[in-house]
Amino acid sequence: MKIKHDVSLKPYNTFGIDVIASSFCNIEHVEDLRHVLKTKTTKPFFILGGGSNMLLTKNIDALVLHINIKGIKVIEETENHVIIKANAGENWHNLVLWCLDHNFGGIENLSLIPGNTGTAPIQNIGAYGVELKDVFVSCEAVNVSTQSTKIFLKNECKFDYRESVFKQELRGKYIITSVNFKLTKHNHDLHLNYGAIKNQLEAMAIKHPNIKDVSDAVIAIRESKLPDPKDIGNSGSFFKNPVITKAQFKALQSNFPNIPSYEISNNELKIPAGWLIEKAGFKGKRFGNFGVHSKQALVLVNYGGANGRDIFELAKLIQKTIHRLFDISIETEVNVI
Ligand SMILES: Cc1cc2nc3c(=O)[nH]c(=O)nc-3n(C[C@H](O)[C@H](O)[C@H](O)COP(=O)(O)OP(=O)(O)OC[C@H]3O[C@@H](n4cnc5c(N)ncnc54)[C@H](O)[C@@H]3O)c2cc1C
Repeated sequence: MKIKHDVSLKPYNTFGIDVIASSFCNIEHVEDLRHVLKTKTTKPFFILGGGSNMLLTKNIDALVLHINIKGIKVIEETENHVIIKANAGENWHNLVLWCLDHNFGGIENLSLIPGNTGTAPIQNIGAYGVELKDVFVSCEAVNVSTQSTKIFLKNECKFDYRESVFKQELRGKYIITSVNFKLTKHNHDLHLNYGAIKNQLEAMAIKHPNIKDVSDAVIAIRESKLPDPKDIGNSGSFFKNPVITKAQFKALQSNFPNIPSYEISNNELKIPAGWLIEKAGFKGKRFGNFGVHSKQALVLVNYGGANGRDIFELAKLIQKTIHRLFDISIETEVNVI
């Protein structure tokens, strides 16, 4: 295990922002992680997974621990289910493909989400009607201060929409090293009602889909809508969809009769932040080498060579404008560093 100095993080974040880490260490084993935490306690640490949920606005004067611990295995099996354990450095989409190869169902709707498996619980990743919490059993994490291992069961993780205990009170206190999932071996429970999945399956002339078909449909939809970070730097949805009360919604409807919404409780509705941003005139707006994507207003992009501070200023301008126009606060989903 080697510690390097003055390392550019450009290849390690999907926004493609060029900032320098004062020190950088590739972590391939849990024991290395424990060792480095124990021996380097004077320096602050910065945990880096796939770098797909962060906007880097400055150089990182810390020891960057790049989590790269690999391995996937079945640890328990019953007639209908398997429990698999995936180490934190496994690429999420590779894990989805591995599950499809083994005909294990449950995460096919989460195909093509970038990033590491170990980061997936942090914001309870979700897409097309499925969230990580639906298949999550537990995760193992190393305590940054004591280096001891703790197993977090589902009820301890406080999962919510793009939220968990790891993003709130335990932020920066634990490093997740592996995650256990419960998946189906047959009679898979397909989630086809969300978004354009049904239409896509129809377009693919598939009448009786299996989990691989659902994954293919999700991949096709995502590829048609979202910019590939390999071509245009981005971090996926930059903002969360805001939740408002039904009374607020009624008041808004008088000015904006077409405002879309999804009911989430008796008294609350979720508004697509992309619609608000588009309505505010930002969709497709380009400011030199950064801007708002032309097909998906929720995605801020780096066309090449942009710096994180400029993108963050744009994010703040969008937040202010949405607040002024709709009296709604939109929070960032991406971690601004
Ligand atoms: C094109 C695109 C599409 C996306 N689509 C979706 C989507 O549909 N749904 C969705 O939910 N998200 C989506 N995302 C966001 C992103 O992929 C997820 O949030 C992913 O889980 C981030 O993983 P990562 O390893 O890249 O995290 P990173 O960006 O590396 O890290 C994110 C945060 O977690 C911390 N962290 C990283 N690893 C660990 C660890 N092992 N232990 C403790 N802390 C850690 C970091 O310090 C940082 O604060 C998308 C992103 C992109 C670029």
